[in-house]
Amino acid sequence: MVRREDILGALDEGKGKFGGKGNFVVQKIPFPEVFDGAAVVDIKSTGICGSDLHMTYDRTEAEIIPGGHEVAGEIVELPKDYKGNLNLGDRVAIDCIGAGKSCNSCYFCRYGQFRHCINRHEESGGGFSSFITRSPDGLFKISDDMDYNDGALVEPMAVSVHGFRFAKFTPGDSVAIIGSATIGLSAICVAKSYGAGKIIASAKYEHQAEAAKKMGADIVVSSEEGELEEACMQETDGIGIDVAVETIGGRSNLSLAQAASCVKKTGKVIVLGGFRIPIEVDFLQPMIKEISFIPATCYANIDGRHDFELAVDILSSGNHPYKSIVTHNFTLDNIQKGFETAYDKKTKSIKVHIMQ
Ligand SMILES: [Zn+2]
Ligand SMILES: [Zn+2]
Repeated sequence: MVRREDILGALDEGKGKFGGKGNFVVQKIPFPEVFDGAAVVDIKSTGICGSDLHMTYDRTEAEIIPGGHEVAGEIVELPKDYKGNLNLGDRVAIDCIGAGKSCNSCYFCRYGQFRHCINRHEESGGGFSSFITRSPDGLFKISDDMDYNDGALVEPMAVSVHGFRFAKFTPGDSVAIIGSATIGLSAICVAKSYGAGKIIASAKYEHQAEAAKKMGADIVVSSEEGELEEACMQETDGIGIDVAVETIGGRSNLSLAQAASCVKKTGKVIVLGGFRIPIEVDFLQPMIKEISFIPATCYANIDGRHDFELAVDILSSGNHPYKSIVTHNFTLDNIQKGFETAYDKKTKSIKVHIMQ
């Protein structure tokens, strides 16, 4: 059994107030709560997510428990009465938000919608620390082809896997991806592996555009208003794209409006971006076009398979290009530098990982 002594964790002091880039202090924190039925994982790699950047930017008060939800590590403890097929020493990616925190028996859990569990475990900490506790239901073995850095990419890959499955994506459909950061790039990979027709992506920065091509986008345009819309119309003889995937979120309605303009009448808009403030959307055009907006968040077990398992499958298929999006690695001690690098696109950062 792992000794329950204090561990190292990174907490943002929140001193930057509104508009800060974080002020992370690595310090001793209590061992995360080992709730009834919890496994303990020794954390090896955690990705800094766009949502971590948004939350840090907005934070006005000091954090009490560490964040970080794109986590891979090694199982060091399993519950006493555990009868599943995981073993100590297994290398796993962790569904920190859904299955790892869920009761596995309420109405939503019975249908695999762990994200919506009504008896979720208390918040017991995230990946910017040395150990994490979660239910074994949320631990997914990574393949021998994957290192821990690849393991921490399972989460952002699963977000797009979930969006496509939740929206009942049809192979052959053409796809527009709005934004080519971590989620936009995983959406390109998922579109590709689910048999999409033409894939058109927009990218704000040159290094993101290059990555989008590497992931398999057929056409990549800039994020200037009108460019993606025009490309979508041109490639479809003015009909419009079948499915648009919005991956930006934030504080502007532009990406949603753009998605709605790109899709054909009766098309679908999968919304993966997290919007931080209420935004204004004109629903008359989408209504006249009969567009389906499908917000999707996190991951689930759909038709007997968890999105994480399919994400592991995708990342295990050969030397998958998505593995190359990790542009920077920092140790936990240097997490502040990691956040600053992730904010500063002049560093050409796409994905910054904290390795331990
Ligand atoms: Zn994330
Ligand atoms: Zn539940």
